[in-house]
Amino acid sequence: MTLPAGTMREAVIDTEAIADNVRAFRRRTGVDVIAVVKADGYGHGAVRAAQGALDGGATRLGVVDVDEALALRRGGIDAPLIAWLHAPGLSFGRAVEAHIELGISDLDQLNRAAAAATGERPARLHLKVETGLARNGIPPEAQRSVFAEAARLERIGRVHVVGIFSHLSNTSPDDDREAIARFDESLAVAAASGLTPRVRHLAATQAAIDLPESRYDAVRIGLGIYGLSPFSYRSPAELGLRPAMTLRAAIAAVRRVPAGHGVSYGYTYRTDRETTLALVPLGYADGVPRQASGVGPVVIGARRFPVAGRIAMDQFVVDVGDHPVVVGDEAVLFGDPTYGAPLADDWAQAAGTINYEVVTRIGPRVPRRTATR
Ligand SMILES: *Cc1c(COP(=O)(O)O)cnc(C)c1O
Repeated sequence: MTLPAGTMREAVIDTEAIADNVRAFRRRTGVDVIAVVKADGYGHGAVRAAQGALDGGATRLGVVDVDEALALRRGGIDAPLIAWLHAPGLSFGRAVEAHIELGISDLDQLNRAAAAATGERPARLHLKVETGLARNGIPPEAQRSVFAEAARLERIGRVHVVGIFSHLSNTSPDDDREAIARFDESLAVAAASGLTPRVRHLAATQAAIDLPESRYDAVRIGLGIYGLSPFSYRSPAELGLRPAMTLRAAIAAVRRVPAGHGVSYGYTYRTDRETTLALVPLGYADGVPRQASGVGPVVIGARRFPVAGRIAMDQFVVDVGDHPVVVGDEAVLFGDPTYGAPLADDWAQAAGTINYEVVTRIGPRVPRRTATR
């Protein structure tokens, strides 16, 4: 396969895979899927990812902040959409106007949301409770008073409490069950306060798969809709998922060199025989982790090679031996192993990080293109 003429590098995004992955989670969990498209859809493109997820039956989208939510609205996405981490003092007027639902973690945010409501449009809220992660969320000791105020604001039509949620630490099933117990206590306090949140949501990808009691009314799936696995010991295929992003480049230069030739900065790699070196025009500025120097896998012409020497800002070299490679040939860094590509996980392992970080850090210099089939 070759890249389109004139394309040096690209991330090809299979939105049909995203739709299929959402379907897989709906089947597996039996509850609604809130598709998490924060951080530009984990690097896949937020609007494109949102569209794919909605095609697969996601009922709601999740992002971190109001700006990400507004960008989705500008991109033509009008599905229910929640944002849950806010700048201190942010006014929620534009969010309410764009019917963006707000995750609320304290009384100040609740009051600011109520202040942004208009006569005909109450602020739609999901109350976030703290269950152990030590991030944001209303702590147990404040829940009675914050919930009571939310119920009062709901009675006078300023807010509508659509949901209540929290987030798990994935430390162990037992730790997560403790968090579930705290979540249940919060639900009881909410009910006693006169709140009737329709959408109770707690699980992200890992718990949605492994901890059925964490599923409630909806699961918030990020990594899984992009076809990646949160488990180091279970592949996407084992989970019925298909990786949606293929990162690839066109070989930019090829040279034949003798034995003993140094490669890239610091000559950390030297050829041990006469060989062919191929130049891949992707570097750490594009999100290819420099820590994967000498290790990260690349598939060229159906053969898998490690990076030779250091990954530079814009490029790295592969020693392809006597394998016939010409300028313009495709080099695949990661994608769907069904088609012979390495996994983003292989790069994560090579760099000492996680697959989440590998895909979200692919930089703006890499054009995203929706796969055509
Ligand atoms: C990012 C995020 C998710 C999605 O997590 P995954 O592990 O990618 O499924 C869900 N909920 C919250 C609050 C998040 O910040």
